[in-house]
Amino acid sequence: MTDLNSDCLFCRIISGKIPAKKVYEDEHVFAFEDIKPKAPTHVLIVPKKHFAGLNEAQAEDADVIGRCHLVAAEIARQRNVEQGYRTVVNVGPGAGQTVFHLHVHLLGGRGLNWPPG
Ligand code: AMP
Ligand code: ZN
Repeated sequence: MTDLNSDCLFCRIISGKIPAKKVYEDEHVFAFEDIKPKAPTHVLIVPKKHFAGLNEAQAEDADVIGRCHLVAAEIARQRNVEQGYRTVVNVGPGAGQTVFHLHVHLLGGRGLNWPPG
C-alpha cells in the first residue's frame, strides 16, 4: 500500500509495525480496538490512505470516508449494539483530535448522552 506515512501512528499500525488488535481489514479500510476504550465497544476505523482529517480530505476521499462508516455499521451489528451506537470524527485539537490520520470512532455498548461534551 502506498500513501503510508512512516511518522504516523495509525500508518504504522496499518503496516503492522506497531501492534494493534485488528477488527477488520479490506483493500481500503482498517479497523482496530482503541487502546483506551471509552465504551464497551470502542473501535477505530481508518482509511488505509493517509490524510490528516476531515479538514484535509479531498473530493476523492469521499468514497473511503463513506466506507469507514459502513464498516462501523457492520461491526456494530456483529457486536449487537446496532440499537444505539455512535460514530465520531474529532476534527482538530479543539475537538480532541490527537492522532492526525482520519479515523472514525465507533462507540457502543452503553448509554450515550446527547449532546456529547
Ligand atoms: P482522537 O483523540 O479522536 O484523535 O482519537 C485517537 C484515539 O486513538 C484515542 O481514542 C486513543 O485512545 C487511540 N489510540 C492512541 N494510540 C493508540 C494505539 N497505539 N492503539 C490503539 N488506539 C490508540
Ligand atoms: Zn497515517
